[in-house]
Amino acid sequence: MAELLCGGCCNNMLIPLTVGEYDQLDAAGTVLKPILHPPEIDEPGWDSEQGEKVIFEQLKTEYTLGNIDEVNFWFDVHTMSTQMNSREGLFNMPGRCALLGALNECTSYEARPAICKAFTPGSTACQAVVVNRDYPIGSVPVEIRSKPIYPTASAA
Ligand code: SF4
Repeated sequence: MAELLCGGCCNNMLIPLTVGEYDQLDAAGTVLKPILHPPEIDEPGWDSEQGEKVIFEQLKTEYTLGNIDEVNFWFDVHTMSTQMNSREGLFNMPGRCALLGALNECTSYEARPAICKAFTPGSTACQAVVVNRDYPIGSVPVEIRSKPIYPTASAA
């Protein structure tokens, strides 16, 4: 599919990345705040049950502090975590991706991360991001990963 020069989903987003994808965006200068680190080579991959326990504990803490923005943020983290692949970590990208060019083009389009390739232009998630440009993190794209991107052990 052709690039649409929108860039709405390349700003202020929760973004799951593998180690290699993180290195790619980090080297370009993208600000990425780790929420859950990608597993090291010898560590097991993303475990949704264990990972969600970690998120739930954090959510309880934020709820106790009474900071509703933080609570909403962690709910969004929870939603995105259900979309993650096994070798990814989860990052908060609070600003603009450094690979986004002056015309809102992805300057690494062919080699962009899998999550970027999975995001479907014109989808419900895409439209939600455009409508909520002031607070796009509140429109976590929940349907972007209806199909697995990476081959599973049985499919490989
Ligand atoms: S890598 Fe490209 S598509 Fe992905 S967030 Fe950055 S600019 Fe957007």
